[in-house]
Formats: sequence, C-alpha cells, structure tokens
Amino acid sequence: MVCSPTAQVDPPHSELMRPTIEPDTVVANTNRLPTLIDSFGRVHESLRISVTDACNIRCRYCMPETVLGFLPQHRLLPYNSIARIVSILARSGIRKVRLTGGEPLMRPNLEQLVDQLAAIPGLQQIAMTTNAMLLADKVESLQGAGLTHVNISLDTLRESAFKQISRRDGLDQVLAGIDAAVSSKLIVRLNALVLREINLQDCIPLVEFARNRNLVIRFIEFMPLDADRQWSMEQVVNGCELRTHLESHFGPLASIPRTDPAQPSSDFGFIDGRGGVGFIDPVSKPFCQSCNRIRLTADGKLRNCLFGREEWDLKVACESNATDEHIHSIVSDCIKNKYGSHGISSSDFQQPERAMYQIGG
Ligand code: SAM
Ligand code: SF4
Repeated sequence: MVCSPTAQVDPPHSELMRPTIEPDTVVANTNRLPTLIDSFGRVHESLRISVTDACNIRCRYCMPETVLGFLPQHRLLPYNSIARIVSILARSGIRKVRLTGGEPLMRPNLEQLVDQLAAIPGLQQIAMTTNAMLLADKVESLQGAGLTHVNISLDTLRESAFKQISRRDGLDQVLAGIDAAVSSKLIVRLNALVLREINLQDCIPLVEFARNRNLVIRFIEFMPLDADRQWSMEQVVNGCELRTHLESHFGPLASIPRTDPAQPSSDFGFIDGRGGVGFIDPVSKPFCQSCNRIRLTADGKLRNCLFGREEWDLKVACESNATDEHIHSIVSDCIKNKYGSHGISSSDFQQPERAMYQIGG
C-alpha cells in the first residue's frame, strides 16, 4: 500500500502550546564529560529508565498472562543510583529522560525520584509513560516534583476489548487518569497499539476521543517483544494502512514537520486544528538511523537498543563505588557497540530474551 503525499501544516498540537522546562530555566551543565556518539555518528540525548518490571495489567502484546515473579526490591536499581547515573549522563548531553516499566506508578514514591531528577542541571524533559491505572491520585504530586510530560497508553474505549487486550478490568480507572492529566499542566499524549483482530475498529473512536481533548494520539506498530512470542506480521497494522483507514473517515491529514529530528513519530494535524495523530512505525519504516536513545532496565542494565542482545551492568558499577568517569566509560562502551539497525525484517532476526515489560518501552 502506498500512502498518498500530504499537505504540510505548522505544528498546531497542544504540546507546543503548553509549558515544558523553559530553556532559560534549564541550568547549563558546565562540568562536561564526552558526548555519547556511536560508531554511526548518532549523538545520544535520550534515556529511558525502567523503574520496575511489575505491572497491574497483563497486555497480551507485552506480558505473559501469568508472571512467575517480578524483580524483588533488592534487585531494583535504587533511586539514588538512578539519579547518579542521570547526573553523569546529563554531563554528556542527555537532555530527556522517560520513566517507564512495567508500570512505573507501581514503584512506591516515584515522586521522590522525579524530585531528584528535576534537580539535575541540563535536563530539559522528565517524562513518563504509564497505563494511567494509578495516575488520577498521583498527577498532582508528580507534576509538583518536576514531571513535565506524560504519555498514556490507551488502545480502546470498549471495556470488553480492554479486558481482551489487558486480561484485566480497569478502563474507567484509565479514563479517570487521563482526565486528571488533561486537567494538569503536564504535556499529555496518548499512545495506542493496534492488534488487527482486536482493536482496529477502535482507531476512529480513539482519534475522536483525542480530538475532543485537543490531544495527539500516536499509533505504535506491534513489535516482536511480547512475552508469549506470538508476534506475527499478520497482526501488525502498519502506519500506512492505518493512515488510509483514518483518512477515509476524517479526510486528508496534513503532515506536521518534525521539530526534533530524532522524533520516532510522523505526526499529522486536522484542518480544524483540534488534536493530532502520529504514526510510530518501527516495523514497516524503521527509524534506527536517527535513534538517539539508550535504555536502563529496572535491574540496572544499560541497553543500546530494544532489540539488543547485550547489556552493560550499571547496578554493579554503582554498588562498587565506581567513579563518574568509570560509569561514563561503561556507557560509552555500550553506545559504541550499538548496531546500525534493529534488523526485525532480516532472516536471522532473533527476538530478545527479555520482553517489553522487562526492558521498558
Ligand atoms: N506500563 C506503561 C504503559 O503501558 O504505558 C509503560 C510501559 S509499556 C512497556 C510502554 C509502551 O510500550 C506502551 O505504550 C505499550 O503499548 C508499548 N508496548 C508494549 N509492548 C509492545 C510491543 N510488543 N510492541 C510495541 N509496543 C509495545
Ligand atoms: Fe503493563 Fe505497559 Fe506492558 Fe501493558 S504495556 S502489560 S501496561 S507494562
């Protein structure tokens, strides 16, 4: 399928109209360490931090129905170590951090970590990705601690489909979490993952839902990272197909130029300026050549790619009182070993041992 070319519009979406950490309030980090550049010249500015592998639902594209056990407390990277690692990486050019999991709100006192991160010079964004089940009660304290952005996963507005996907009840809680986030000063975005057999029919109502709240909703292609290893190309609804589907209902979408070259999503606006839609297409249109992300797992392992098969142990380094320079050298080594692309489509592709909830999405 070939997606038609589109007209361009200026970025109209809500996130450009709401405050983030203002550039002039970001304290420059003068105590620099070498920039994190890989062997393909990609400069790394973004760190995803998983704070737990535990979750309160069991999405079939991510977790198994029955989990034998989550990481015990002593195996989690402590908040002080996370903050120390971020402060070292901020001196090397990391500008954005995203807290994720598992479900990040399952880790007690997350505000405490956000507060520690907010004190680090050089960070421009402290974001979180959440299923929003526990968000309603936490938005205020997280925002107060310094959280700037929240991405909320929402795949359907039907309770039956929610249960089919997540193997749990709780759509009402998610919607309450979204309401609370929209009423806050956080920059809010929605993420949806479409499984052909379950929620393709939900995409148009989801876009309406987003537009009614002047939000951007981004559709992420299903990747081979499910614990059940049931991924197949047939279940992936690619971004091009989805865009054609949405345009048949909403009319032509207007492309929004990227404000950040490393942004994985192609974003589109509507003629009336309400809300927006984005497509994150790691399977059909890999964006590896502009990838500037590294990932820290909840047990303190650094990964240079979702699909990487190697990990670098920062928990052990922190526990053995490694110097900042040593920690930086481990991170540099991880980045130097980053492949050019994830290779999902190649014949020798192997799904990583860890599933999405154990890495951090
Ligand atoms: N629990 C939080 C949530 O669901 O938003 C944060 C962690 S979750 C792993 C982060 C994101 O990864 C979610 O938006 C989810 O839809 C996405 N995700 C999970 N498994 C995926 C897969 N196999 N392919 C693509 N995206 C996936
Ligand atoms: Fe939990 Fe997020 Fe994975 Fe769903 S996608 S099971 S909410 S970690």
